[in-house]
Amino acid sequence: MQVRITVSFPYEAPVSQSLFDRASAVTPGGVNSPVRAFRAVGGTPRFMVSGAGPYLTDADGREYVDLVCSWGPMILGHSHPEVIAAVQEAVARGTSFGTPGAGEVELAEEIVARVEPVEQVRLVSSGTEATMSAIRLARGFTGRPKVIKFAGCYHGHVDALLAAAGSGVATFGLPDTPGVTGAQAGDTIVLPYNDLDAVRAAFAAHPGEVACVITEASPGNMGVVPPLPGFNQGLKDLCAGNGALYISDEVMTGFRVSKAGWYGIDGVRPDLMTFGKVMGGGFPAAAFGGRADVMAHLAPAGPVYQAGTLSGNPIATAAGVAQLRLLDDAAYEKVDAVSAEVRGLVTAALAKEGVAHRLQNAGNMFTVFFTDADVTDYEGAKAQDSFRFTAFFHSMLSQGVYLPPSAFESWFVSTAHDTAAVERIAAALPAAARAAAEATA
Ligand code: PLP
Repeated sequence: MQVRITVSFPYEAPVSQSLFDRASAVTPGGVNSPVRAFRAVGGTPRFMVSGAGPYLTDADGREYVDLVCSWGPMILGHSHPEVIAAVQEAVARGTSFGTPGAGEVELAEEIVARVEPVEQVRLVSSGTEATMSAIRLARGFTGRPKVIKFAGCYHGHVDALLAAAGSGVATFGLPDTPGVTGAQAGDTIVLPYNDLDAVRAAFAAHPGEVACVITEASPGNMGVVPPLPGFNQGLKDLCAGNGALYISDEVMTGFRVSKAGWYGIDGVRPDLMTFGKVMGGGFPAAAFGGRADVMAHLAPAGPVYQAGTLSGNPIATAAGVAQLRLLDDAAYEKVDAVSAEVRGLVTAALAKEGVAHRLQNAGNMFTVFFTDADVTDYEGAKAQDSFRFTAFFHSMLSQGVYLPPSAFESWFVSTAHDTAAVERIAAALPAAARAAAEATA
């Protein structure tokens, strides 16, 4: 692939490169989560040393406007003083007790107060744990084995849910990563997103066998591909009609796109929901919750086992509570407005250079797809000219704007993205749009 990159300041990153070399010697691929490695776009991943408001600073001392926001959590920007103060106050009292604590109750109460379908909630440490546990609970509650999920929806690296990320074999419930056995993936039915007929057919083919349908409330992991009108309601109705649970994965959208996440936008009432990212304020905190009669099946109230040494950790819960309490209506209005402004700038710059694209958003989450067709499923997302994104990404990076290093991700903004940050993005866009226009596959 030949990519022309417009560089406006020295593009080398020697300190990041040397850290990456050291990391690669001791850690597979040099990273602790694959997409951080820049494999999709090439080049040296930036090792960040600090974050303040809308900016990140890398180990070479360069500052970037951050449009990743830690993949969603940093909705108030980096190092928000009130979140930092809450963390410092919690740290001073100790880091982990292995007993119940008041912080867990406060965070659970915040979640229950915001998201009406959540009557009870259990705290865990990652989104992966949340979805894994929700599925176990759904199977335990219904006594059924099968799970329906959608191609292109990511629910963490749960074995049963990795029978998915889009390949043809996924359709047959075969694992698409080595290490996941046929037995682990065999009860997973993978269907095309936004296709209610496929869900109807799957229920008909497996009567009395489907425990749950799990879906991203509004997918952000194939890029932002919102549900078509009626899709989530259709899922809910099909689940209800077939004795299965409807699980809405709001790890990404929860507390980000509105006070009550995507539920606050579409109002479709799930049986179970999963959360992560924003609710942890930048710390490892996640949760699953929903109907009290279903949650009552969870140990120690019921027989479905689930546990965690660091679940409800006092520092993570302090950060989460502080962040959620700052997220009032005005905060969401601000994030939505910044998102709309950046979307407008991006689409204008690309249009000016004649670059075919679709800018899709779900509330304040958004993705630029380099294609001239609306994207409604994973096949559509994969059909884009991702080589144009590569050129666009590197041009933005070289000009001090940090985008997700993949064409299949959501971009994120925060309340801290002020006029100065937006102006920096605007200044970088013309060259990046030109680079995208000139890129060749
Ligand atoms: N579910 C969704 C919708 C996600 O976006 C993610 C992570 O990006 C997960 C689950 C997994 O969360 P975690 O990375 O905290 O395990």
